[in-house]
Amino acid sequence: MVDYISGLNEPQRQAVMHGNGPLMIIAGAGSGKTRVLTYRIAYLIENGVDPFRILALTFTNKAAGEMRHRIEKVVGNEARNIWMGTFHSVFAKILRIEARAIGYTSNFSIYDTDDSKSLLRSIIKEMGLDDKVYRANNVFGRISGAKNRLIGPDDYLNNPVIQADDASARMPEIGRIYKQYSLRCFQANAMDFDDLLFNTNVLFRDHLDILHKYQHKFQHVMVDEFQDTNVSQYLITRKLAAVHQNICVVGDDAQSIYAFRGANIENILNFQRDYGKENVKIVKLEQNYRSTKTIVQAANSIIARNKNQLEKHVFTDNEDGPLIEIIKASSDNEEGRLIASSIFEAKMNDSLINNDFAILYRTNAQSRAFEEALRKVSIKYRIIGGLSFYQRKEIKDLIAYLRFTVNQNDEEAFKRIINLPKRGIGDTTVAKIAVLAAEKQESIWGIVSEITKHVAGRAGIAIEGFADLIKSFMLLLDKKDAFEVASHIAKASGLLKELYEDKTVEGLARYENVQELLNAIKEFVDNPENDDKSLGAFLQTVSLLTTADEKEDDGDNDKVTMMTIHAAKGLEFKYVYIVGLEEDLFPSQMMLESRNDLEEERRLFYVAITRAEKRLTMSYAETRYNYGRLKVCEPSRFLMEMDQRYLKMSRMRSISQESHGYERPEREVRDRTETPSGGSMSFVRSLAQRTAQRQAPQPTSTHTPSADFAPSDTSKLAPGMKVEH
Ligand code: ATP
Ligand code: MG
Repeated sequence: MVDYISGLNEPQRQAVMHGNGPLMIIAGAGSGKTRVLTYRIAYLIENGVDPFRILALTFTNKAAGEMRHRIEKVVGNEARNIWMGTFHSVFAKILRIEARAIGYTSNFSIYDTDDSKSLLRSIIKEMGLDDKVYRANNVFGRISGAKNRLIGPDDYLNNPVIQADDASARMPEIGRIYKQYSLRCFQANAMDFDDLLFNTNVLFRDHLDILHKYQHKFQHVMVDEFQDTNVSQYLITRKLAAVHQNICVVGDDAQSIYAFRGANIENILNFQRDYGKENVKIVKLEQNYRSTKTIVQAANSIIARNKNQLEKHVFTDNEDGPLIEIIKASSDNEEGRLIASSIFEAKMNDSLINNDFAILYRTNAQSRAFEEALRKVSIKYRIIGGLSFYQRKEIKDLIAYLRFTVNQNDEEAFKRIINLPKRGIGDTTVAKIAVLAAEKQESIWGIVSEITKHVAGRAGIAIEGFADLIKSFMLLLDKKDAFEVASHIAKASGLLKELYEDKTVEGLARYENVQELLNAIKEFVDNPENDDKSLGAFLQTVSLLTTADEKEDDGDNDKVTMMTIHAAKGLEFKYVYIVGLEEDLFPSQMMLESRNDLEEERRLFYVAITRAEKRLTMSYAETRYNYGRLKVCEPSRFLMEMDQRYLKMSRMRSISQESHGYERPEREVRDRTETPSGGSMSFVRSLAQRTAQRQAPQPTSTHTPSADFAPSDTSKLAPGMKVEH
């Protein structure tokens, strides 16, 4: 038997071995929260709890998979039976079982964000609204925000505060768009991501018998990354835990980074109120096992600047480790080169593999420079959450065929494939079918399967041919597994042939991608963990992959990981690079409006720092292309906010600076004992001064850094103006 208990510290052990009743673990980064949750599940199973009766909610499906493997090592095969996954995947599963209760059928489609926006664009057009005022993105954001606060379309329309808000945003029709959008999703037997949570709440609210079933079923409910649950998610867990009251939540308020998506840090405070202060056991974990002292203390020094936080003292017994290195580059491209050569050197000197490295950035668009530079030095990398495999056109095309075969009411899938390969059916005909279906309150399929009544001539005949094709695919669903059906559809639809005939390099790559999708489906079918091998089951798994769940395209698993900080939550890497530390990029320009927003950016920075185990490097560029224009950038205020004792300027020299003789050698902070906190020669200050000197001649400059600001004085570091060339 695996002895996991002896490897835990005292508070960790208390949490793992806690019996019944609500348990809240509030703990610092890297203090073993996820580890405790994992072993608590193993412990419960060892002590007789049926794994079918444990529900564990994680941030990504991959995290759930890793947890399951660890639990399996302790309890064996039974770990397979735990209900574990993201909120979305677990409740999609429950909604499929209970679909009829809320007027759906179990083969409902899941609309991804592209589908949702495409549907919104159609509706905005049909309603005759100006699409420059009603941008699909904004409209989608508002609707999503409402759903996550459990406000349905009727409540939305009847709420004077919301109506006034939309009116002042000059989008008074959002309520009507929302209503139409919900109707169209319903008619299409489709749910978007937010609906999966919204409808679960509706299901549990309106069908108490169903709620009771799950309340009794789940004897234990566990939530990782609790600080990032939104109201909708919180209510689901509260309802499910109401009978047994065995709920264990694990979180770190300092790492709450999804407020923009409706996550509610108050959940942590509400928890005690909802379960009764005297009933809730609270465990604090403060010892960090992940990072060096330097990294932990630097992280503490940054988060201490936030006003809104619960008191915690994170410490570590790990070694001091090297100082945090700051790399300055003259441009974004050079930042890429410097980081790539730093990784190259570290690999050689410290015998590391690619997997030990991560490059973290604020926005996906920043990856390009690093990709190019890593390719030049032949270091393999993976990008998590960029244009992912499942977002590629050819993949979405085939998936749309599969979706429509499973659910013939799926309007967005229909629009995608009706003229693919070309059948001579124009956009007007397609729009006409969608409008007709909406008017008659009928499904798309209702119109399409009797198309000759509605559309005359060649287009009508072509659509009839399409309907026959789909009918022939539908016949396979009950008889064949997902792989057999999908392979047939890829061929019989003409998609594969079209790609095969395209002999360009891109065409070949697209053909291979489709083959790769078929391989993935084969893998799904062959995996003994999947009981349901139907096409519908495969589609569900695919549509709920989070950005962190991507599979590798090739067989090689040793790669440098690149991703946004948001996607890096919960992960750890030996060497971490946080790049693009510039004002307006990180903190993001969009997050400078209020203290709360800035605090959220700072928490994001805290998350980034605390991903690193052994060595942390940060970089910024002095110029960067932004929307096609070269901008002069200023180093991020976050660099100045950190306790300077833990930082050192890199010796890496940029070629362009040398050749211009532009740069004076930087004075380095050599030893933390030599230069006390806020020491007079902090390199960041000299940076700020130089930036100021450079900017001084610019008439619009508002940046007037004082020669003697202390690191704690951030008020003088308000973002200065940007010089645009
Ligand atoms: P985050 O806040 O980033 O989600 P976390 O609190 O969930 O972090 P874990 O990922 O569970 O922390 O643990 C961080 C690292 O510390 C992991 O590598 C884990 O194996 C290790 N660790 C945790 N507790 C112990 C312990 N008692 N002894 C040794 N290593 C530990
Ligand atoms: Mg964790």
